[in-house]
Amino acid sequence: MPKKSNPKNNLPPAYNPKETEEKIYQTWEKSGFFNPDKLPKPRKKSFCITMAPPNVTGSLHMGHALEYTISDVLIRQKRMAGFLTLWLPGTDHAGIATQNAVEKTLRKENISRHDLGKEKFIKKIWEWKEQYGNIITNQLKKLGVSADWTRSRFTMDQEYTEAVRAAFLHYHKKGWIYEGERTINWCTRCRTSLSDLEIEHREEHGKFYYIKYGPLTLGTARPETKLGDTALAVNPKDKRYKQLVGKEISIQSVDSSVPRENPPKLKEIKIKVVGDEAADPNFGTGVIKVTPAHDLTDFEIYQRHPEIPIVKVIGENGRMNENAGVRYEGLNVVEARKQIVHDMEQLGLMEKIEDYTHNLALCYRCGSVIEPLLSKQWFLKMGALAQKAAEAVLKGKTKFHPKKWEKVYLNWLKNIKDWTISRQIWWGHKIPLEGVDDVLDTWFSSALWPFATLGWPKKTKDLQKFYPTDVITNDRGIINLWDTRMIFSGLEFMNKEPFKTVLVHATILTKEGQRMSKSLGTGIDPINLINSYGTDATRFGIVWQAMGGQDIRWSEEHVNAGRKFANKIWNAARFVLIQLPLDLKPSGKPKPKTAADKKILKELAEVTKKVTQKIEGCEFGPALHDIYDFFWHSFCDKYIESAKIQMVDKTKSADTEKILFYILAESLKLIHPFMPFVTEEIWKHLPSNNKKLLLVEKWPK
Ligand SMILES: [Zn+2]
Repeated sequence: MPKKSNPKNNLPPAYNPKETEEKIYQTWEKSGFFNPDKLPKPRKKSFCITMAPPNVTGSLHMGHALEYTISDVLIRQKRMAGFLTLWLPGTDHAGIATQNAVEKTLRKENISRHDLGKEKFIKKIWEWKEQYGNIITNQLKKLGVSADWTRSRFTMDQEYTEAVRAAFLHYHKKGWIYEGERTINWCTRCRTSLSDLEIEHREEHGKFYYIKYGPLTLGTARPETKLGDTALAVNPKDKRYKQLVGKEISIQSVDSSVPRENPPKLKEIKIKVVGDEAADPNFGTGVIKVTPAHDLTDFEIYQRHPEIPIVKVIGENGRMNENAGVRYEGLNVVEARKQIVHDMEQLGLMEKIEDYTHNLALCYRCGSVIEPLLSKQWFLKMGALAQKAAEAVLKGKTKFHPKKWEKVYLNWLKNIKDWTISRQIWWGHKIPLEGVDDVLDTWFSSALWPFATLGWPKKTKDLQKFYPTDVITNDRGIINLWDTRMIFSGLEFMNKEPFKTVLVHATILTKEGQRMSKSLGTGIDPINLINSYGTDATRFGIVWQAMGGQDIRWSEEHVNAGRKFANKIWNAARFVLIQLPLDLKPSGKPKPKTAADKKILKELAEVTKKVTQKIEGCEFGPALHDIYDFFWHSFCDKYIESAKIQMVDKTKSADTEKILFYILAESLKLIHPFMPFVTEEIWKHLPSNNKKLLLVEKWPK
């Protein structure tokens, strides 16, 4: 069939992603079009996403691949639709995570951070950052991310540090930052406080001990904290103990002043009984011991009953301190537990021991068991800020997609406690107050991301153009850690919510529905997928499975389907290009001459509308399904077959050629946000009046 075809129009016989992708990415970067200042004009409306900054220690996992692919789909579509688009990238210094990563490398040389000292250790981290911090950025480029790298930020760059300082001092001046002693979550390995959101839970089989307390028996999983007991609590409605509330009772206890080498001795002590709702009449014996210095709930009881003393018996190093008495001092909590259980059994104070499943709290960075303890920390008052954050969502100024996450957000705000913003690690933003050595919780700086990255506290053009931003995309796990805090920070410092939509993406699980985890060996490396199938196929496979907010049970078949689709597009383009005459001048929408022409043009109009609406509505999977069905079934299976027959009549073939070309070109535009490389490569070979990149072609209407 080939006749007067243009030899330049001939595509190579097969699509080779390995050869193509890197070159295409370089062409885009060289064009400057990722940068809104360099985009073809005019563009009036802006569209901005500030990228959830991956940890500087990180490497790409499947959650990222999904998150950044759907953001890229959004940005590419808006860029083509004529918006002044900015996708602002960066990395997070990720306090504890980075410090731990560098400590790990030091440990291989048998050096601890304490051996090095603070200054040298921080220098080591910066060196480490220079060496490894770009891994994830390069992986993002491999994924096709069309972010403006010239505006890339780091949460500890100089200007960002200024922003953090300004924000802290603003709160401080308002009197919202205070120092206080509270029982907080403490990691004895990282030697720092952690917020409730920074701990993970794991079920573990342990024991539950029933201890005699004078006339009462009470249950505890942690008998060693008995040494810090300062009260007993019963529910005020519990008839069994009503007469005891407010009284002091005498009990026999272990004499902790007796050295360990001697047999245990009894000692009489007095302890107060308080009435408090925290005691559940239906749990254990209904009586709880109150250890305010080592239990978060007990500390709250103490706050309601400030007459109770508070005694700290476990130190920051996780060992019993002098308040525990010579018998226990210096033992770690596990050793102390063994010792005191043994002593109580000897003295007849242990009524019984049962098997029990604990919900153990662990440090989310190093996995050590959390030791709640009384500690001096800095706090940010949450009252007014939390209220602002709730209102933004209640009034619909910021919307969650899917909507169900609004409930999670609002519930957390309702029960919010003041934010422990100090951390006792070395890597981070130093609290800008004289005499304070602590650094700020890493989320304090991330909270400023949507405006600090645009230049705040300076009044910059970028802030004017791009704030408030449009969308933020993230995992459900950081709604409270991050989204909430960005929203109240935006309202506090910019007087406007930082984005209109919070797009909470699905979680990618294994085929069996397990969590993907590197350490469990159940993770999939998206870079491996890209290396075997190509980026377009990988993006296709990921977006194809993103149907609504449900979790994705990962199936690699869809990546393979993506590879097949890339080849299908390539082959269809080859067929069309072979038909086209040398002198074809693309000239807008052609007129249909046959029933088949009419049908395909009508279907194109429909799919254009659907794909546009679905991308705008954040329904990426369904949008991809639509364009796939149209291209494969309506265009390739049906229309191309009809076209072959139509073109037999040479007097009419020119009309069909125009339609073939038009449908191909419009389809490439619609597919581009999902599969940017293969579409751009084909675009290069199309006859065209201008030599624009597909990246900035007009989105079909
Ligand atoms: Zn830790």
